Amino acid sequence: MSDEATAAAPGGSKDQQIVLLSEKASVCVACDLHENRTNVVFGEGNPGSPLVIVGEGPGETEDKTGRPFVGRAGKLLDECLRECGILRKHVFVTNVVRCRPTLEEGGRLKNRPPRADEADTCIRLWLEPTLSTIQPLVILCLGAPAASTIIKKGFKMMQERGQFFETKYAHYAIAGLHPAYILRQQGEAFDAARVTLVQDIEAARKKVIEAKKESPKTLF
Ligand code: URA
Repeated sequence: MSDEATAAAPGGSKDQQIVLLSEKASVCVACDLHENRTNVVFGEGNPGSPLVIVGEGPGETEDKTGRPFVGRAGKLLDECLRECGILRKHVFVTNVVRCRPTLEEGGRLKNRPPRADEADTCIRLWLEPTLSTIQPLVILCLGAPAASTIIKKGFKMMQERGQFFETKYAHYAIAGLHPAYILRQQGEAFDAARVTLVQDIEAARKKVIEAKKESPKTLF
């Protein structure tokens, strides 16, 4: 992504606010998800970025490391971002929930989708303050849970991905297929799904550039 898109907040105040918020989140016990977590995965990247990427929630590797999108799905996301000239340091990456939702099956912890009460709590306490601190121009939602949170309830991924919507969190939001979903596809279906993610990232990147032109600094 160009320099334009990576300019940080003057004085680094967004950085400081995000650090403070993440410190508070690191001891959160507001929902049951804290019981099985190893680490809170607050989100990371550039709090001065005009582009925020929102996924669903941490998986096993994210829970172990405390970092978002660092497992297989994260590697695929990184590849697709790189094809659009975007590195992690250019964007801020976070999730609907900050602790890994799990269920026990055959003596092992498996991932599960977050419940509505868990998601609502995490959105109110951490996602909304994160987004209102960063004030991104564009949000890229990965997967239906993120799109239903940011764009509209009942978002239909297959019909509505790749389109821009106006939201209360950012003037422009777009949704793309979740990389974990793409990884579950095979052969041509995998290739086709991967292409759509690259297209949606590229659309978000271009929209950032357009939106920057639309919103000249209006301090005085
Ligand atoms: N899947 C997500 O939705 N978020 C992560 O951080 C990792 C995998």
